[in-house]
Amino acid sequence: MAEERSRRVFLSTSAALSAVALTGVPAGAEEPGDRGPGGAVRPQRPDPELRAILREIDEHRIEATVRRLAAFGTRHTLSSQTDPVRGIGAARDWIFAEMEKSAAKSDGRMTVELQSYLQPPAPPRIPVATTITNVVATLRGSTTPERVHVVSGHYDSRCSDPLDATKDAPGADDDASGVAVAMELARVLATRRPAATIVFAAVAGEEQGLFGARHLATQYKAAGTDVRAMFTNDIVGSSRADDGTRDPQTIRLFAEGVPTSETPAQADIRRAVGGENDSPSRQLARFVRSVAENDATGMSVRVVYRRDRYLRGGDHIPFLEQGYPAARFTEPHEDYAHQHQDVRVENGKQFGDLPEFCDFPFIARVARVNAATLWSLATAPGAPEDVRIRTNRLTNDTDLVWRRGTDPDLGGYEVVWRETTAAEWTHVIAVGDRTEARVDLSKDNVFFGVRAVGKNGRRGPVAFPTPLS
Ligand SMILES: [Zn+2]
Repeated sequence: MAEERSRRVFLSTSAALSAVALTGVPAGAEEPGDRGPGGAVRPQRPDPELRAILREIDEHRIEATVRRLAAFGTRHTLSSQTDPVRGIGAARDWIFAEMEKSAAKSDGRMTVELQSYLQPPAPPRIPVATTITNVVATLRGSTTPERVHVVSGHYDSRCSDPLDATKDAPGADDDASGVAVAMELARVLATRRPAATIVFAAVAGEEQGLFGARHLATQYKAAGTDVRAMFTNDIVGSSRADDGTRDPQTIRLFAEGVPTSETPAQADIRRAVGGENDSPSRQLARFVRSVAENDATGMSVRVVYRRDRYLRGGDHIPFLEQGYPAARFTEPHEDYAHQHQDVRVENGKQFGDLPEFCDFPFIARVARVNAATLWSLATAPGAPEDVRIRTNRLTNDTDLVWRRGTDPDLGGYEVVWRETTAAEWTHVIAVGDRTEARVDLSKDNVFFGVRAVGKNGRRGPVAFPTPLS
């Protein structure tokens, strides 16, 4: 029996390889020892334009942003919105003015908005009706502006008592660091022309219950906005653990498996096909690794198969609730003496979220990971839609179908696959500009996905198929 099975693998491999030769996979693309059709999946190398973008990201500007935000004393959501020097209102106005400076260099492509709403009392953390304001800079895409990609940080802060709006709460790591990432990306990308839209957001109300991000996500949903990806950068300021060890070239990316927004019908399909590791957020996480782990960012991305850390939440969650793919960047280790703590010295130890505990070259590298990701998403075609596996007959090959995208720069498609036990896509088969492909490999034994390739050679995120009977 074992002998027969291995013979079948061999036969289907050689048959598929001859079919692949017709579809343009270069000879020799197959890795020695690989079994099955297609070449090995390789990371997407940064092209000269992306390398120039990454070089422009400036750790000194990031440091200046973090120090300026910390200098507002507190940015608590319940702090003063009118004091010109201290409190969240002064921070809001400063961020808006800085974003406007970036937009001024965009030839009108970037617009900046103060997105405010009145949050009714939501005890315990919003005891009285409170105006919550997001600062939202939108860089409109040149050819497919309807595809939207969001990068955010939260500019509110807190001290030990979540309701104390007067005590110092410098919030350097949590989360001036994330706001500095979003603002630096806005500055560097404002002068460029991505095909799709990129939004750079500084949101408020995170520490009181994710209020600003929830408002942003629900506004997008209500407007029918096609948000293809959202990344929150929250606590990305330091590479140092509380035991003093450093991990300066790793950033964690928390990405859920089973979608937060999954319906009972979707759950039935997921259980039937074993799709628990293939949510759109997981595909996004794989995409981040493929475009952002390289010599130009100097970083590795440690994907964590979990929505967020224990006992914690973040601004990606309201986007997940609306059915948008989203994930969270957070530093590799956290030092809880410098988060959510009153600024004080206890037994000779300094507590508090102060800029002196930030690692600014590290934040700049995190910004490069974000820039590589957002730029690659916004200059490649989007993930294919309506990707299906035909299941109306029992066969030992696999028929995939999908709907052709409308991106003017669309060049064609690739089918990717992996063993069901593998974390990452391992094999790729170029199939050209068409909307179906037959692969001589059983859909029962591996996972398949489909991704679009631009005429510029850039690849978009993978879409995972559902059954078509
Ligand atoms: Zn935070």
